Order: sequence, then structure tokens, then C-alpha cells
Amino acid sequence: MLSSLLRRFAPLWFVLGMTGCESGEPPLGPPESPDAGGPLLAYTVDRYDFAFDLTTREAASRLWLGVEAGARGCLFLPAREEVTDVRWGGAPPGGLRVADGRVEVCGTTPPDGPLWVDSRLVIPEATTPYTQVGLSRRPDAQGRPFTYLLGWVESCDLFGPCDPAPGRLAHFTFDITHAPGEVVLCPGSLSRRDDTHTRCELLGTRAPTYSAFMVASHPAWTRTRLVDSDVGRVELYAPQGGLLGPAIDAAAVADFLAWMTARFGPLPYGPELRVASGPTEWLGMEHPANIILRDNLPLLPRSYANMTLHTLMHEIVHQWAGDRTTLASAGDFPWKEAVAEYLTYVFEDEHRSEEATWTLAYWDRLARTASYYLRPRDSPAPPFLTFVNDIYGTGPMILLVQLESLLGRAQVLAGLQAFLAEPGVRSIEDLRTALEAASGRDLQRYFDTWVDGEGEPDWPYFQVEWSQSDALTLTVTQRTQTGKAYPCEVELELQGEAPEQRRRVTVSYGLEPESATVGLMVEGLPWKVQQVAVDPRSRLVNRRSPGLVREPAPQAWRL
Ligand SMILES: [Zn+2]
Repeated sequence: MLSSLLRRFAPLWFVLGMTGCESGEPPLGPPESPDAGGPLLAYTVDRYDFAFDLTTREAASRLWLGVEAGARGCLFLPAREEVTDVRWGGAPPGGLRVADGRVEVCGTTPPDGPLWVDSRLVIPEATTPYTQVGLSRRPDAQGRPFTYLLGWVESCDLFGPCDPAPGRLAHFTFDITHAPGEVVLCPGSLSRRDDTHTRCELLGTRAPTYSAFMVASHPAWTRTRLVDSDVGRVELYAPQGGLLGPAIDAAAVADFLAWMTARFGPLPYGPELRVASGPTEWLGMEHPANIILRDNLPLLPRSYANMTLHTLMHEIVHQWAGDRTTLASAGDFPWKEAVAEYLTYVFEDEHRSEEATWTLAYWDRLARTASYYLRPRDSPAPPFLTFVNDIYGTGPMILLVQLESLLGRAQVLAGLQAFLAEPGVRSIEDLRTALEAASGRDLQRYFDTWVDGEGEPDWPYFQVEWSQSDALTLTVTQRTQTGKAYPCEVELELQGEAPEQRRRVTVSYGLEPESATVGLMVEGLPWKVQQVAVDPRSRLVNRRSPGLVREPAPQAWRL
């Protein structure tokens, strides 16, 4: 997911338990009287069969559950309270209570084979504030309705009983009923059964619930093949006259897909990748085998040099990093976005160099106002949506780019290849161990200082002093409130009087700095240094904490 330009959200923990009540909506019948009994049964959801009628908003879901055989007890399944018609293995349950954001359903599990639990729900046309999470119908610029059922981290229970824990991977099927002529997308392999039915199956590689609950439709999408190569087919679903088609450099997309598959293996959800255009709030969102892009990306202010291509590449990375390999917990969200941003940046740097410069500058700008550490130890924990929109600069810079400077790009890429090699769940801690294994270096101190912390981050600001006679002597000091010394490498650009008098030098604190001050002597400089710019390529989170010395404005901002 790539969020738009919003930088601050109100607390939104209630995403998890949104009841979606709409005034005027009749209640769907009271839940049966609670008769829950027996011990709590552990379960895993192996598969979700989700049938949804886009015209009536009626959903029917069947969960295939792994449970202990022949046991009597109750399951607690997170769900909206409007859920009806709950059945246990096709029969009325022995006990049922729908309350407090969950279905409590009781019975005896089969002696062999899986248990399935059915239920129905009319999904309200409602979204959580500041997002499009939920079910929405929004007109595009021509007034045609874009319908989007959008899940999110810890929110799949908006659409029926669901285990919303992030670290769950499952199979899915979707049977979508829709108006004739409506073009419908859903995750996995897609088949249009007839003019009013579309089915998708996600029965190979498992997917997480945060991205797999997705149905999108538009009456005027037409399909255009952007890429058809031995590594994949990319199909664009956009209306005639839409902005995305002309803006997407299809050859660059083909190059990027070849670059990704060479390093991370085939597209995880089959060779067809569908990219669709819609009036969305986020710039883009990754769903298994599907990517939704905001339809006016080419018109937005250029945070990235090429908004459309950068966003598309970012979402392509998520097919591996986020979808196939997913978050161990909600707090592991930063690695997912950091990896998507970083791999997009590395490709830009290797193939589209000016674009990489923009990307670094944008991250640096975001990092200057980040309010949280990447693994915040704050209590209570920061509001999730505030936190996730805070990490798009600091995530890729701290978790990967700064380590690229210290370890080498080849080592970072090798670490990511190992980190993403197998489907499953991964944590930020797993990323650390993968990077340590690839580099042979101990990164504990680095993660302790840069990644973990409470309150306003106390990341360093770098103060440079110099004296010049025969040689130039530089002294670089990290200024922080706590006096911690941060492992890092710092680039400095020495600037003389004339524009061509420029030289870039590097000072390194290494991974185990003993002091916040390092020195460097530069011999044979034929001109007098007038100014030293810190981090001229925006590869380091460096900023002034409140109460410390005033940060001089970067050269480009001076009048
Ligand atoms: Zn993303």
C-alpha cells in the first residue's frame, strides 16, 4: 500500500471493531439466545469461501477450519454483530452468541475432515474514516461508479467471520454476482462464468487476509495488455480515456518485472497480474494478483519523480513482500513498506537514476517529521493508522538504505532474498537476522539505537566543524538529547567558492561507535572550503531534535 499525502490521522483503533451501523438500516434479526457451552476450541482458518452480490451487498461466507477432531466446544470468530444464519458443518449450531464483535459458536467437531462454519451478512456501504477500508462506491471523474470492497490489516472481520490476526495465510475463493456488463476483479485466478458472475480462486500460494479481501468493479474498464513476457502478463483495467494508460511506461514495467523475478522468483500468484484504475484514496494497494492504482496519479504533485511508475513498482514488490510473505504482527508493518520502497529505489538507481534521487529526497523529507520509532515502545501504543503513515521515509532509510551504506548493496539484497525466499510470516527481527546472516555483521546495536524507542525519536543531527591549513581537518559530532552514538556512515560535500569546487567525502561511525564524534583529515585539497553540506544525497535520517542547535537550511532553500 502506498498512502497519499495525508500525514496525520486521528486515532483509529476502532477499525478493528467497526460496527458499520447505518441509520435507517433495519436490523438483520436478533442473534439467537446465547447457549454457548464447552471449552474454547483452537482453530486455524484454512480457507475462506466468500460469495458476494454487488447489487444487494449480501455476503455469504464459509470458513474451512482446522480444529481438533471429535472435540466438543466453542469457537470465537471475530465478526460484526449483524452476522446471521450461522451454521456449524451445515447444521444449526449447538450454541450461538453474536456479540462483542465476535461470533461464539459451539458444537462437536467432525471425527475426521475439516469443520466448516457458514454465515450471512449484508455488508454496509461504509468505510472507516480517512480510508476506503470497507465497502464503497465512488464516482470517477466521468461519474461512473467504482465499487471497492477493501480489507486491511486486522479488519477482515468487516466482511464476515474472520481471523484478523496479521500473521495468518489462507486460501480464498470469491463468487461475485454483479450487474450485466460490470467488469469485476478479485484475487487469484479469475474466470467470468457468465455476464453476471465472476469467480476467483486463490488456492495455490496462500495469501494474508489484509490484502486478499478485495473485490473491485467498474462498468467501463477495458483491458489492455501492458506486458507479455516470459516472466508475466500485466493487464491494465482502465476506462477509455483514463489517465493511467498513457502514463505507464510499459517497457519499464516489463524491465522491472524481469528484475524482480530474477531476484525473488516467479510472480507468487500466477503469471497474470491485473492493474486497475479507480478513484481511490491511497496511491496504490496490493492484492494477490491484482493492484489497484489511483486513477489520477499522473496529475498529483510529484513526491516521486514518476508517481505512476513508482507506485506501480512499489505495489508489484508487495506481491512478494506483504502478500506471499506477510507481517508477523501489525507492528511489523514498517518492513513491508520499507522493502517495497527500497527495491523500487534500487531499480530506479540502476535503471532510472534521476528518479532514485527524487525518491531519496522525498523519504528524507518525510523522515524529518516522523513522530515514532519504527518499533515504538510507547504505552499506549500509537494509533495504528498514524503509525503506518509515519514510516514511509524512516522505514526504507533506517531499515535498508543506511545499512546499504554500512554493509553494501549486494549484502542488503542478499539479505532480502533470504528474508523473502519462503512464503510465511516475518518480523522486523527476522529482517535483522537475515541482514546479519548475509553480511556476517552484528546489527543488534544498530537496531537498538535506530529502530527501538519511545516518544519523539531522538535521531541525531550532525554538526560539522573544520579547520584548513595544509590539510583539511573535519570534526563531525552527532547531537542528540540522550547523547547516544548512532551507528552510521555520513556523507559530506565540501564546497569551495567556485561552483566546480566540490568534493564528497565519507566519515563512518561503524556499527559499534564508541564516540559521538569522529574526525577526518583530507589532504591535498587545492581550494578553501567555504561550506560543508551534510548528507547531500539524503541517505541518512538526520534532523534536529527540539532544544538542540538550529539546523541550517539546506543550500537549495536559501534565498
Ligand atoms: Zn506499500
